[in-house]
Amino acid sequence: MSTFAERLEAVEERIARALRRSGRKRSEITLVAVTKKFPADVILEAHAAGLRHFGENYVQEFAQKHLAVSHLTDATFHLIGHLQSNKAKQAAENFNVIETVDSARLASRLDSAAGNPIPVLIEVKLSHEESKTGANAAELPAVVDAIRATRHLQLQGLMTVPPWSEDPEHSRSYFRQLCELARKYNLSTLSMGMSGDLEAAIEEGATAVRVGTALFGPRPRPK
Ligand SMILES: *Cc1c(COP(=O)(O)O)cnc(C)c1O
Repeated sequence: MSTFAERLEAVEERIARALRRSGRKRSEITLVAVTKKFPADVILEAHAAGLRHFGENYVQEFAQKHLAVSHLTDATFHLIGHLQSNKAKQAAENFNVIETVDSARLASRLDSAAGNPIPVLIEVKLSHEESKTGANAAELPAVVDAIRATRHLQLQGLMTVPPWSEDPEHSRSYFRQLCELARKYNLSTLSMGMSGDLEAAIEEGATAVRVGTALFGPRPRPK
């Protein structure tokens, strides 16, 4: 068993190597620590170790944990899981960044629910997996326009989750496509890359990687 500090160091080394290979700087990458299914203590420990960005998948789960971490005023909480329109208000109340806007309808619900400006990303679905959420490339222009027409949503970039594969190289073409789409729409934030494929993501232009298992170990089984 390694300690959290050791795992964090190992992740930072992986990030550093990928940055060296691509001639990029550490300041270009946000490490989002994915704490879904872990108790709030895990967020506190990671914060104490210097992490400031946290990703959670479930609005309700995080709303419960939020009380225990709301004093971390320098922390940024990202919603990285699918958002249903009926949870838009709760999401706007609990998260600082919503990475998973994927329809004009959701954008409009979120805008009405938000009392303040809120940075958002569009989740893009680049594969044909039935199970995946996200806007596909054909739907993307309408979602971009819808977000840009809102009062409170600030469109910052795109996020994607490639199909699961043991081989990180399989993710590379999806990362490349996301990067091209971001360029096309003049968006600067690219949230892509997880524990298994963060190097390929950084080499292809990621500005944020979302890392769970490599930092915290296997997630606890659902109760
Ligand atoms: C769970 C999750 C992650 C983290 O995955 P790991 O493989 O544990 O690093 C990143 N992004 C999303 C959208 C997730 O759901």
